[in-house]
Amino acid sequence: MTQPATESYRFEHALIDGTWRGDVVVDVGGDGNILRVSDPAGNGPPNAPGDQPSPRRIKGWALPGLTNLHSHAFQRGLVGRAEKWGQDSFWRWREVMYQYVSGLTPEAVEAISAQLHVELLKGGFTSVGEFHYLHHQVGGHPYDDPAELGRRIISAARETGIGIVHMPVVYHRAGFDRPQLDPAQARFAMDVEGLAGHVASLEVEERQGRGGLVALGWGIHSLRACSEAEVARALAHFDSEPWRPIHIHVAEQTLEVEQCLETRGARPVDWLADHVRLDRRWCLVHATWTTEEELTRIAEAGSTVGLCPATEANLGDGVFRLPRLLEARGRFGVGTDSHVATSAPSELRLLEYGQRLRHAARGVATPPPEAPAGAGVGHGLILHALKGGARALGIQAGQLAAGMRADILVLDGDHPALAGHGPDSVLDAWVFADSGNPVRDVMVGGDWVVTEGRHRSEEQIARRFRSHV
Ligand SMILES: [Zn+2]
Repeated sequence: MTQPATESYRFEHALIDGTWRGDVVVDVGGDGNILRVSDPAGNGPPNAPGDQPSPRRIKGWALPGLTNLHSHAFQRGLVGRAEKWGQDSFWRWREVMYQYVSGLTPEAVEAISAQLHVELLKGGFTSVGEFHYLHHQVGGHPYDDPAELGRRIISAARETGIGIVHMPVVYHRAGFDRPQLDPAQARFAMDVEGLAGHVASLEVEERQGRGGLVALGWGIHSLRACSEAEVARALAHFDSEPWRPIHIHVAEQTLEVEQCLETRGARPVDWLADHVRLDRRWCLVHATWTTEEELTRIAEAGSTVGLCPATEANLGDGVFRLPRLLEARGRFGVGTDSHVATSAPSELRLLEYGQRLRHAARGVATPPPEAPAGAGVGHGLILHALKGGARALGIQAGQLAAGMRADILVLDGDHPALAGHGPDSVLDAWVFADSGNPVRDVMVGGDWVVTEGRHRSEEQIARRFRSHV
């Protein structure tokens, strides 16, 4: 089979190392990765010698695609079905979710996932981390192919063209002091051996296709769903494939912190830091209820915090202590979790608004070191999320640079949301202007999957979604 030829694009504006440059040429190799980034204006590395294809000119603002580091794809079908008055809570939402799960077929999971992936691509995400705990049939019996539902979600990702890091999750107890799962949790049951089997059987998916668009990782649902002994066994196994990311829900609710203190004698993040070797493989999802010391321990370990601001707001979790994490030089990325929001700007805007409401001040966090002088809050938040998201999923993405996967968004500078903005404020306008979607074109692994604001299969995928929800 012959490799597709190198393709070359000349972007009117491109975000290179955190700063907008004009007239930038990006060459994309047949493997879906960026071969080189050159800059005719003389502000970057020179073109490599040799025959270069004539670049296609692309107007607008080109930036690396963002990583959505935390998704439960099936929950896209649940949005709007659990919004009740009267002292509602995360725990009551969870009951509604269990009820919803009891009717989901593999076909429905695939249809819902494909619709979600289209929405994420159009929302600026070119990769998604699927934290997958819906493993079995109703009643808890495995499918003939035990990884059936994981394969369905990966199939949806392939159909839509989004990059995916699929992370099956260990889930084997109902709570800190409840070693048996509840009947409503039977579809989630998974021990370490089962998890290892899932990952092994899905490895064939990793090797198919170009651009490394499918990868695998490990998940532990939470400390409440996994005993101390099971965490230890999981770690021993994870260390046998140390290149894979490890994700866990942690300290999302105050009740979880209280029960962890009662049963394990430490707060959840402290317990993790004491009992597992936290390092850059780890992504701690939510970490809402953490002390300054716990945030410092996460930062010093090189782990990433996975923030899902819209879901955390929707579930009434609380507001993350973002300034403190950044003071400690910690890292974060964003995820859409239950998918009450499906775009990168929605998540980043709500993250910032949560901080403004909590502190009664604006722009209280700090930009990353690569942000240019004078960069606005939206610009800085995007740079944080690009770097943290790619790190959390262990993928070569988040930068327009040689060797990175060619994941590129092009924002339409003529869209009313961005009109009149230049390099100093265009990303702030994207994050804060709620005036429609200026994402015009999206490339993932070298393929344009969204052009002129439309995904290549969106009508057919929406039709299938409607017939399953
Ligand atoms: Zn989650």
